[in-house]
Amino acid sequence: MPADTAAPCIRCRELVDVNQTAIAICVSSRTVGIDEALRSPQDQVYVCSMCADAMVKGDEPPKTQPLNYVVFHQIRNMIASDPAIGMSAWLELRRAAGLPVPALTDPTIARAWNEFRQSVSSAFPPTLPEPEILTPARTLRAG
Ligand SMILES: [Zn+2]
Repeated sequence: MPADTAAPCIRCRELVDVNQTAIAICVSSRTVGIDEALRSPQDQVYVCSMCADAMVKGDEPPKTQPLNYVVFHQIRNMIASDPAIGMSAWLELRRAAGLPVPALTDPTIARAWNEFRQSVSSAFPPTLPEPEILTPARTLRAG
């Protein structure tokens, strides 16, 4: 969900509103191999829950598309770690199909949902790996 304004989903281009669930893909850049690294400001793009769910059930991007490959695996690991995005995609699908959508704010449903999430998350070890930091083979000097 975007911080304060709606933003388009990078896959379906539908606006992701601030009250919708989504995955934010945070992007920043920095130089490597230079003594004083330059860093870009961070920016974000969003994938709505239905597209995130569909993306990770599709084909893995080839390694010749490294950015798509990395994002695919990050989103897949997030969805595999917590059923919340899958549930959100299911709710959005029901809404799109014109079917009744259960309100997670209903106390009975909220309690059952929270118990389910806790049971699932405690039953398995976390699936998100530690980030890998690659250092350059050699340092270039500016100037
Ligand atoms: Zn989308």
